[in-house]
Amino acid sequence: MTFPTTSAHVSPAFTDTFSSWHAISSQESLEKLQTDPEQGLTPEQISHRQQYFGPNELTETGGRSPLTILWEQFTNIMLVMLIAVAIISGILDLRQGKFPKDAIAIFAIVILNGLLGYLQESRAEQALAALKRLSSPKVKVVRQGIIQEIAAKELVPGDIMLLEAGVQIAADGRLLEAYNLQVRESALTGEAETINKQADLILGEESALGDRLNLVFQGTEVVQGRGTVLITQIGMDTELGRIATLIQSVEAEDTPLQQRMSQLGNVLVSSSLCLVVLVVVVGVLRSGWAYFEQLLEVSLSMAVAVVPEGLPAVVTVTLAIGTQRMVRRHALIRKLPAVETLGSVTTICSDKTGTLTQNKMVVQKVQTVSNSYEVTGEGYAPKGEIIPQDSDEYELNGELKQLLTACVLCNDALLQKPSEQWEILGDPTEGALLTLAGKVGLYREDLSLEMPRIAEIPFSSERKRMSVIIKTFAETEEELNTQGNGYQQTSGLFSSPYKMFTKGSPEIVLDRCTLIQQGDSVVTLTSEDRQRILAQNDQWASKGLRVLGFAGQNLPDLSDEDVGDHHENDLIWLGLVGMLDAPRKEVKGAVLRCREAGIRPIMITGDHQLTARAIATDLGIAQADDTILTGQELQHLNSAQLEQIVPEVSVYARVSPEHKLQIVKALQNRGEFVAMTGDGVNDAPALKQADIGIAMGITGTDVSKEASDAILLDDNFATIVAATEEGRVVYDNIRRFIKYILGSNIGEVLVIAAAPLIGLGGVPLSPLQILWMNLVTDGLPALALAMEPAEPNVMQRPPYSPRESIFSRGLGSYMVRIGIIFAILTIILMAWSYGYVKTPGLPGNPERWKTMVFTTLCLAQMGHALAVRSDSQLTIQLNPFSNPYVLAAVTFTSLLQILLVYVPPLQSFFGTHALSLNELLICVGFSALMFVWIELEKLVNRWFLNRQK
Ligand code: ATP
Repeated sequence: MTFPTTSAHVSPAFTDTFSSWHAISSQESLEKLQTDPEQGLTPEQISHRQQYFGPNELTETGGRSPLTILWEQFTNIMLVMLIAVAIISGILDLRQGKFPKDAIAIFAIVILNGLLGYLQESRAEQALAALKRLSSPKVKVVRQGIIQEIAAKELVPGDIMLLEAGVQIAADGRLLEAYNLQVRESALTGEAETINKQADLILGEESALGDRLNLVFQGTEVVQGRGTVLITQIGMDTELGRIATLIQSVEAEDTPLQQRMSQLGNVLVSSSLCLVVLVVVVGVLRSGWAYFEQLLEVSLSMAVAVVPEGLPAVVTVTLAIGTQRMVRRHALIRKLPAVETLGSVTTICSDKTGTLTQNKMVVQKVQTVSNSYEVTGEGYAPKGEIIPQDSDEYELNGELKQLLTACVLCNDALLQKPSEQWEILGDPTEGALLTLAGKVGLYREDLSLEMPRIAEIPFSSERKRMSVIIKTFAETEEELNTQGNGYQQTSGLFSSPYKMFTKGSPEIVLDRCTLIQQGDSVVTLTSEDRQRILAQNDQWASKGLRVLGFAGQNLPDLSDEDVGDHHENDLIWLGLVGMLDAPRKEVKGAVLRCREAGIRPIMITGDHQLTARAIATDLGIAQADDTILTGQELQHLNSAQLEQIVPEVSVYARVSPEHKLQIVKALQNRGEFVAMTGDGVNDAPALKQADIGIAMGITGTDVSKEASDAILLDDNFATIVAATEEGRVVYDNIRRFIKYILGSNIGEVLVIAAAPLIGLGGVPLSPLQILWMNLVTDGLPALALAMEPAEPNVMQRPPYSPRESIFSRGLGSYMVRIGIIFAILTIILMAWSYGYVKTPGLPGNPERWKTMVFTTLCLAQMGHALAVRSDSQLTIQLNPFSNPYVLAAVTFTSLLQILLVYVPPLQSFFGTHALSLNELLICVGFSALMFVWIELEKLVNRWFLNRQK
């Protein structure tokens, strides 16, 4: 095996053939890929490799082919029925010696509709793909000696990638370092158990995929721990790429509404078939076979009239508009049903840190055993002072020094100044600690050279603490006691070559301490000490500060020992640090909006109950004396007891991710429709269980995003409320145009059925005219109605149940009522115009009454479109330009209708006849009555509502 040593890029022959990374050492792997483990790749290497290997992407092998999408359009039951209608109508025309115009037109419309459907679906798929790119994961890599965040698709073989809990691994690689690295490989192997990965193994060539403990694979998830990986394969060359499993990060599911729509389609098609049979059978029984063909014509028109051909397209477009509006408000929808159901949320369970608060931590207070300190300075810049409260003299004494050293070394964040601004990479809580220590000149770059980390027990929301084990290079007691950046070091804590630093929730860390650092010596921790520390913790927490406790410990020689929880005992207490994480400004208003909208906000946090209470009261989520349930208390409740108590509790503190799952279930059992936020790897089950799982775009782990229905691009609680509002608007608009479209369909059917009943000769509307109405004169304004902005009261009413029927709350009766009004108006006009045309002395054209019926139905829908914009407000009270699309659609469609009536080629195609001005005005007058009726209905409703008040 040869490898070019001079070239900056990897030999194609080499990477194409070599796959036994598990069988060589990490050092050998680095040499093969010409990577420096500290510096990473150079820009030149990166661009060469990007050119050669291309982006780190899986070619989408799943999904539907364009041909399948096109074929599916024509298998839609409504289109199949139209095709049948076209065939029968063609046969009828041919038998009568007429040109089969209707049949051809219907076929043309079927094809057009199919193509439109195809375009829309492909567009929807493209839009989903765009959303997918928006949510595409980022990875941390070392390049040119700096830790950077890059898009996963920019990875190349030879990159050094950093792993931490919650990361979904973006490419295959050889482990260089692993600290308690637990990986779930179920995406690849189906094995649900986590696997403990190790860097320093060299395995046999033949070892199976699941046994390659020194490798990590694309698509698998880091559940715990940390690691450094040398990327060996990317894109389709990875194990996941090889099995060509597509992991879609955006799922295109049918929404409940879309499912109900296709059910509705089935119902309509079967009922129209029944109508056809009924009309023909009754007609033949009454009048004999002589009228069979005429009856067939009537029934075919009815069959076309009953089906809302334009509806599925409008639903799809509305949902697409909904997702776009939500993205504009920083909520990214991952699963389409969420667009429609977000409006039904009754309870929002939110994390505190980062969602309700800014997640910009600034340390304000420090408490060692003998001193308390106030800290000045803002942001992450290490500028400011640590001012002792009990003495005038500032001195970086042993106690403070120990505490600040723990802050720096027991820390995974990075404090950087890439430009003008200081920035942190990693957890803001940890960043704030680095800033604190930087204020007295303690930086990790220096300290970790003297005291490198050799092991760690990572942080998790369950453990609520983390520990690191460091090694000092000092050999003598004297050296040991003078270590640490030149500061005098005299504590007993530095009397061993291995030490551990622990930080975490103060109660938990304190619980594991038996000693305390006092001045330069270590003494026994008394119960008075404990009480004093806990009282201090409570005092800070009740002011809304986030408090962390610190401890240290000397450890014996660690060789061959498994590092674990058992080391976190008999610790030496070092002190407390209190940091401020101010609430987000916009959240208070958002909480208020929630309440007005009948949505209950709930805070679920891992933080201390008093911190949680202070922030919850400040934001209006809870009252000062409300019950707060802690994780510990929750642990002792069974599910029935929890279900009893959930309606009263608005703040849960010191909870672990598994408690979140219990809380969601309890709320759901009480009939709530729950949105739940989460960011950690262990939040995934609760996110999946929630009706709407919401992950954090900035701080969220890949695993939590994968489990969610929506992602908050700005991690902000106010965004959830905004998305809920958009969800309500989408649902309202869907109901609005369903009302609009189906009302007119019912009207058309009744008019066609009435014609033979009242003894008029012929079918008033041809299938072609009906298609025109359903697709164009109904379709365009319906699309415009989908753009309707929020009604003013949209967030001042309680949420609607997601399980309610689409026809509930009067929609069904509205459709029938409006359909009947449509029919009555048109039938009166029809009867009158039929007679009017026959009046002696007037130019008798027996076809004009049909054109009048056609025109009246179309124009009446225009009035309907204007009036249906609001349920409560009169049209005159609405700003016509708040939805200019409706005005434009109405004007445009009316003009088209006029063209149909007056332009000769269109006349002959659509079977219309030019109307006289009087006739046209009569049509306009009758149509206007529709508008007047709906406005009157609104006035009557208002009057009833006022009387009820
Ligand atoms: P929320 O659940 O609202 O996001 P949170 O950040 O406090 O709040 P967790 O991340 O679960 O919730 O943290 C729980 C507790 O663990 C914190 O209150 C804090 O005491 C401690 N903690 C948080 N981050 C760290 C860390 N990096 N190292 C050690 N302890 C930590």
